[in-house]
Amino acid sequence: MYNFRNLNILTVGCVVLLLAKNHYFIPVVHWGIYLIIIIGLYTFAVVLGCIKISLSFFLPVYCNAKTQEKVVALSFDDGPDDKYTPLILEILKKYNVPATFFCIGKHIKGNEQLIKRMHDEGHAIGNHSYTHNFWFDVYSTKSMLAEMKYTDDDIKAIIGQKPLLFRPPYGVTNPNLSKAIKIGGYSPIGWSIRSMDTIAKNERKLLEGITEKINPGDIILLHDNISITASILSSLIEKIQQRGYRIIRLDKMLKLEVYV
Ligand SMILES: [Zn+2]
Repeated sequence: MYNFRNLNILTVGCVVLLLAKNHYFIPVVHWGIYLIIIIGLYTFAVVLGCIKISLSFFLPVYCNAKTQEKVVALSFDDGPDDKYTPLILEILKKYNVPATFFCIGKHIKGNEQLIKRMHDEGHAIGNHSYTHNFWFDVYSTKSMLAEMKYTDDDIKAIIGQKPLLFRPPYGVTNPNLSKAIKIGGYSPIGWSIRSMDTIAKNERKLLEGITEKINPGDIILLHDNISITASILSSLIEKIQQRGYRIIRLDKMLKLEVYV
């Protein structure tokens, strides 16, 4: 299985073989060449594990539900946003569709009514760090936990409950974040369909890009702080439903607790 622990075991094994200089295993090439190859492959494997959340490389991450039932879940990151989150909430209400919002703590101040509205209207609220800082992934475990706590505290002050779902900023995982998630008692949530709505320019292509990929149990990653997502959401819900899928909350699909 491709994970950090097994990669380390394999790498140590290769280095031990190399140091043993057993010529049955190592053809006649300078051992330094093998060492460079091992270091290169190890680095590539770790970087891939960091950036590809669906690999569950450092820790098991929920990226979809193992089901044959035609259900999918919508998730919105990076809000709350005073301009687009209300539009998205309005559309979800119109279609009676629940979603999960992974909120950035620093965006909550001034948008408390949106958090309350999400909760009151049956959506789940998850933690998506406090700052979503570009350097978040090189923070210490302690700093990550501090960010998570600030966001938890702000959400709890509004809805009275602490979130248990955490989505890593940028979808990047690493050993420090893995520790923080375990210590904090969170369920790490990824996705199985990345809409790429943050860089999309064409509504039709964005819609097709999502709906053509859908399979039972998928978690769709969207963002509630950009215009194009609000523009396509009605059509997206209709197309998903036309394909015979029900949209349910990801915590229901994964059988997870949302708050404590
Ligand atoms: Zn994000």
